[in-house]
Amino acid sequence: MKIEVLTIFPQLFETVFNWGVISRAIKNGIIAFESVDIRDFTDDRHRTTDDYPFGGGSGLVMKAEPIIKAVASRFSDDSKPHVVYPSPQGKLFDSKKALELSKLSHIVFVCGRYEGIDERAMSSIDEEISIGDFVLSGGEIPALLMIEVISRFVPGVVGDMESVINDSFFSDLLDYAHYTRPREVNGMEVPEVLLSGNHEMIEIHRRMESLLRTIERRPDIFLKHDFDLTDKKALLLLFKELKKDAE
Ligand code: SAH
Repeated sequence: MKIEVLTIFPQLFETVFNWGVISRAIKNGIIAFESVDIRDFTDDRHRTTDDYPFGGGSGLVMKAEPIIKAVASRFSDDSKPHVVYPSPQGKLFDSKKALELSKLSHIVFVCGRYEGIDERAMSSIDEEISIGDFVLSGGEIPALLMIEVISRFVPGVVGDMESVINDSFFSDLLDYAHYTRPREVNGMEVPEVLLSGNHEMIEIHRRMESLLRTIERRPDIFLKHDFDLTDKKALLLLFKELKKDAE
């Protein structure tokens, strides 16, 4: 998968992609990443990428032509990228959107700054995506955030795909609680069942925890969740426990 970012701060990405899961995916050749300086597509001496808004008002606007040219430079005979503009006016980014984007072979992110980009640069954009109902000063952090989430769904990026599947939101459930050594911390014990070695019971216990957490914290997500056999077994266990408590 090829991911490219068009930005006036290309160095910002070099440092971030030097660590963690993504740097490993880049080293292993699973993801090819490039940050491209929009200034390389200007043709004036000062390499200007922004200007005052027509009609007046505060702030600066990113010029259309350098963006249009920078996007065009990413197209080749054998690769037509999907072009994303991180923008507070786009559709809200979530796990489903990330999974959908992870199936593409080539994505380009166009990072805005200041008041945003000249509306005519939108002719080069396929999709606007927002990371939440707030405004940042630039598209770089939204692009980084989306790349990190998308890349987790690319096979081979996270070593253990099962952990991605169990993560919150993947199947409209929040993740279960995690514990590591030691067995006791300040008098707090690890739930007994996790030490039992009974894999089926562990799975059911964890699912019960996921279901209860989701009902309590995110009923909106719970209503979307489709029940499978493990869910049903978890409910049976819950029913037994409730009955025992009542007795
Ligand atoms: N005036 C614009 C905001 C510009 S913020 C408006 O109100 O719609 C500058 C840049 O930051 C934007 O061009 C966009 O690329 C990025 N940005 C800001 N908030 C964002 C968000 N919530 N999601 C994605 N990108 C965002």
